[in-house]
Formats: sequence, C-alpha cells, structure tokens
Amino acid sequence: KLGNETAKAELGRATWKLLHTMASRYPEKPKQDERAAMKQWIMLLSRLYPCGECATHFQLILKEHPPQTSSRASLSNWSCGIHNIVNARLGKPEFDCSTLADVYKCGCADEPGAEDS
Ligand code: FAD
Repeated sequence: KLGNETAKAELGRATWKLLHTMASRYPEKPKQDERAAMKQWIMLLSRLYPCGECATHFQLILKEHPPQTSSRASLSNWSCGIHNIVNARLGKPEFDCSTLADVYKCGCADEPGAEDS
C-alpha cells in the first residue's frame, strides 16, 4: 500500500511538472490547430492517466473547468487552478499562481536566461 502511494505521488509530480512546463512554453498567441492539439492532449491525458481514481476525478474537474487554450497566460493559470483543486481535495496548501513563470523552466536553449548550447 505504501509503495502504491509513493508511485502515485511520483507519477503525479511528474505529470504536473510536464503540464505546467508545457503551459509555460505554450504560444502566447496560439494558432487554431495548436489550441485544438493542446485541448486534445489534455482530454486524452485524462482518459489514459494510469491512476484510475485520479483519472476519474480529473475528468470531473475538466467538465467544470474546460482547458483554457487561448494564450500562454490563460493555459498557465488554468493548469495552476486545476492543480489547486486537486491540492484542496488532498488537503495540500494552495499554490500562488502569480509565481508560475519563475518556477517552470524547460531548459530549452531559447529560454530567457538559459545557457548557450
Ligand atoms: P504535487 O501536487 O505533485 O505538486 C508538485 C509541485 O508542484 C509542488 O511541490 C509545488 O512546487 C508545485 N505546485 C503545487 N501546486 C501547484 C499549482 N497549483 N500550480 C503549479 N505548481 C504547483 N493523488 C491522489 O492521491 N488522488 C487523486 O485523486 C489524484 N488526482 C490527481 C490528478 C491529476 C491530474 C494529477 C496530475 C495528479 C493527481 N494526484 C492524485 C497526485 C497528486 O496531485 C500529487 O501529485 C501527489 O500527491 C504528490 O504531491 P506533492 O505534494 O509532491 O505535490
């Protein structure tokens, strides 16, 4: 049981990191097909997420809070908001969404402040 909880938490941390980092690199002015792709990726993630309990809950959250894909800022705030809904359900502290841009770096060469190479 403890092993299961550890695996579930690690999967959660990895997934949140990926989602928030993708949002931090999402276009500021996305094209229609980029918006559709992001929305589909999120919906598919909620269908295929390997923790069944989490997936069920995630799908309910998405019904009430559909992905906001109109810009980088809206996607980032949306993903921070749904993560806070899960945080609240699990009794974890609320995260301050105004600090997002400093937290989620991709390590990409063209990122401000990244090293050359
Ligand atoms: P995490 O919640 O994993 O967060 C990792 C780090 O992200 C934090 O340390 C913090 O630095 C940062 N962070 C925290 N909140 C935010 C935010 N709002 N925005 C941006 N960054 C933030 N676990 C269950 O037990 N039951 C569930 O039903 C469940 N559902 C889940 C649904 C989804 C879609 C996902 C991705 C995960 C789910 N999890 C669930 C896992 C759970 O959310 C945590 O990932 C896990 O409990 C580990 O928590 P943590 O305290 O390490 O921090």
